Amino acid sequence: ISFLANTDPAIAGLINQELERQRSNIELIASENFTSPAVMAAQGSVLTNKYAEGLPSKRYYGGCEIVDEIEAIAIDRAKQLFGAEHANVQPHSGAQANFAVFLTLLEPGDTFMGMDLSHGGHLTHGSPVNVSGKWFKAVHYGVSPETEQLDYDMVRELALKHRPKLLVCGYSAYPRVIQFDKFRAIADEIGAYLFADIAHIAGLVATGHHPNPIPFCDVVTTTTHKTLRGPRGGLILTRDAELGKKLDKAVFPGTQGGPLEHVIAGKAVAFGEALKPEFKAYSGAVIANAQAMATQLQKRGFKLVSDGTDNHLMLIDLRCIGMTGKVADLLVSGVNITANKNTVPFDPTSPFVTSGLRVGSPAMTTRGLGTEEFREIADIIADRLLNPEDEAVQETCKQRVATLCDRFPLYPDLYTGQAL
Ligand code: PLP
Repeated sequence: ISFLANTDPAIAGLINQELERQRSNIELIASENFTSPAVMAAQGSVLTNKYAEGLPSKRYYGGCEIVDEIEAIAIDRAKQLFGAEHANVQPHSGAQANFAVFLTLLEPGDTFMGMDLSHGGHLTHGSPVNVSGKWFKAVHYGVSPETEQLDYDMVRELALKHRPKLLVCGYSAYPRVIQFDKFRAIADEIGAYLFADIAHIAGLVATGHHPNPIPFCDVVTTTTHKTLRGPRGGLILTRDAELGKKLDKAVFPGTQGGPLEHVIAGKAVAFGEALKPEFKAYSGAVIANAQAMATQLQKRGFKLVSDGTDNHLMLIDLRCIGMTGKVADLLVSGVNITANKNTVPFDPTSPFVTSGLRVGSPAMTTRGLGTEEFREIADIIADRLLNPEDEAVQETCKQRVATLCDRFPLYPDLYTGQAL
């Protein structure tokens, strides 16, 4: 029985269209992934009916015995996954998790330091349009103009000059390893808190494919839906139990009301999946696939920011072919490849135009593609971007995308409408 199709055919029809779109496109948005049907089942459950303000065993509502068990499992698995002493699984999103950290560690007007948005930082790390930039004094570091990578001496110099109360590391568009120990040394020198936002790399961290920030940072946040492959949401981790209590209060009642227990159940399922050996193999494949795509793009003459990648994403610097990110985004979407325009460090254009295209491997690795297929994707992108006016090339690229999507079906066990 299709409950949704019977009740609301308009929304049911659109969800089916979205399922077909996901199936027939090559998804390269580095912050997206395909979560498992088990996670979706938990999210689409009766848990959405339950109010549960508070924490497990300390609720403001009755009837929470069962959601208490679910949330406790999610917390335990999160702690195990990252080796943390304390976890809060309630943030509705990465931005909410970050806001709770600011509320805990800073007073309005305090100075903190994070990476510039145009160099790969996130809006919530002090952009003037975000509360982090409106209520606090944000100082920004960038990457080195020579290597386009973090220069820890530059970060240190800036930190010594501005003496921020909080130092933020962890980014949205940085393709290289982050050395948390070096950030810790800088934070210690100025007596600052150190906060890592590992929203992008959480899956790689959880499986040992990227250094773990927990031993070095006062607090760590992540989203649960990127490389971690869970439902959309946020997570806060710390090894300091006392700080953990303050962070809990900053989430509720500080910035949120009732937790989304259906999403928390989805997080618990995803964390359980991430603890399995298959997920470690998956995360290794995410990096191998990104590197195969990067090498092939370079062979085809493209310049990548920092000349490569250590993780799941890369930034193509399109100035090498005199194209903007906006145009490249349109060109690849015309052959059913989804990516996003992105600024590159020291970008001369506006964030609406940009000089870069950000591409990543997590979603298509979930579909089962390997290094050979990622080289083919790089070739399709290259063929399309190097022949922007050629309609025959466009047609062939579309067919090559369709072939790949057919070979690696998405949600093969779901028929259209079944999930509804
Ligand atoms: N932090 C980083 C580094 C991110 O890349 C993102 C999202 O892209 C976020 C935080 C915000 O996550 P959300 O969209 O869940 O609020």
